[in-house]
Amino acid sequence: LTYLPEADPAVADALRQELARERDSVELIASENFTSPAVLEAVGSVLTNKYAEGYPRKRYYGGCEKVDIVEDLARDRACALFGANFANVQPHCGANANFGAYTALLELGDTVLGMSLDQGGHLTHGSPVNFSGRYYNFASYGVDPETETIDYDEVERIAKEVRPKLIVGGASAYPRIIDFERMAAIAREVDAYFMVDMAHIAGLVAAGAHPSPVPHADVVTSTSHKTLRGPRGGFILTNDEGIAKRIDKAVFPGAQGGPLMHVIAGKAVAFGEAQQPAYKEYIARVVENARALGQGMLDGGLRLVSGGTDNHLCLVDLTAADVTGKDAEKLLEGVGLTVNKNAIPNETRSPFVTSGIRVGSAAATTRGFTADDFYEVGQLIAATVFNAENDAKLADVRAKVDALLAAHPLYPELDY
Ligand code: PLP
Repeated sequence: LTYLPEADPAVADALRQELARERDSVELIASENFTSPAVLEAVGSVLTNKYAEGYPRKRYYGGCEKVDIVEDLARDRACALFGANFANVQPHCGANANFGAYTALLELGDTVLGMSLDQGGHLTHGSPVNFSGRYYNFASYGVDPETETIDYDEVERIAKEVRPKLIVGGASAYPRIIDFERMAAIAREVDAYFMVDMAHIAGLVAAGAHPSPVPHADVVTSTSHKTLRGPRGGFILTNDEGIAKRIDKAVFPGAQGGPLMHVIAGKAVAFGEAQQPAYKEYIARVVENARALGQGMLDGGLRLVSGGTDNHLCLVDLTAADVTGKDAEKLLEGVGLTVNKNAIPNETRSPFVTSGIRVGSAAATTRGFTADDFYEVGQLIAATVFNAENDAKLADVRAKVDALLAAHPLYPELDY
């Protein structure tokens, strides 16, 4: 930090504390990652000063020629990375991207079919406490109670029953490959649009580690900050020019004012990084590491929802350890392992308590954790939740976590 410590010591101190927190714990929250210093630099730049309502070469403000370069780079790279014809990179976040997509495709009150929150979907896929559930008539699908994977025959049955105008694919807590081709066929059968929210798996899609939804969906929405490893934000892709025009209108002026050009610059940098061979190798490690993490937990006596993982995350059933998700989250934080509580299929507890946790490999892989390290972390998670009352055991776990952290320093180039 150069100017902040003197200009605003209170904020500088909070930033220092956050960097220390990120350095001193193993980040296992499946929706988080560590951007490159280049992305941080773009987001902390003079572009934050510029109003640029509108789109490149069609702005409502003067002086937008330079930010046009940035937004063109972000849009072109997003299209190249995902093989899409059109991209809107202005949504401030993933929820706004979904707001834009729904506004473009639907009228208020239309019927939509999405994955329910307690089975792995996102708030914006129809939760009654979210705009999606309030503005649209959402029906939901979930996972098969036995296999804990999406039962596409059941999705088809519900779709035929409720005749939605839109089917939403994608999830926040689903550890398996999603069959977008099958879901698109179901949507076609009932004459519905098909949208995929690939927020969690965008990095895997970019690197070819998960089948792409882009050839199958009318619209694909995403965040840029999860496996994709960019700045916090959203974006929308489509191959259909007519839908692209409606999306642009829905985002601005429909839902947002001035775009965050500094964040769009960060997105451009991240999309560029994701086009490099090193990123493909990174994502291959993310997938391998999630498997190792899962195996460590299985060998430690925990159960994984659906039995394992194909992507960057595991959903863990804590029943065997007789601890709630809420208590496990706190216990694990105490030993330097950051996770979030999560509902599991057939959940019996409230969303504030839950019987599970969700863990992911994207962030710690960025700081260099290997498959062996992840296997050890999986075992340490199990050791923690099975020894909640054993202080000596928890101290031993903390020491092992500290050794792993010391072996893989985070942001060595940042001098806060
Ligand atoms: N869609 C999915 C599938 C998500 O998992 C999330 C975030 O967790 C979002 C959308 C929302 O993203 P944001 O928090 O940026 O609004």
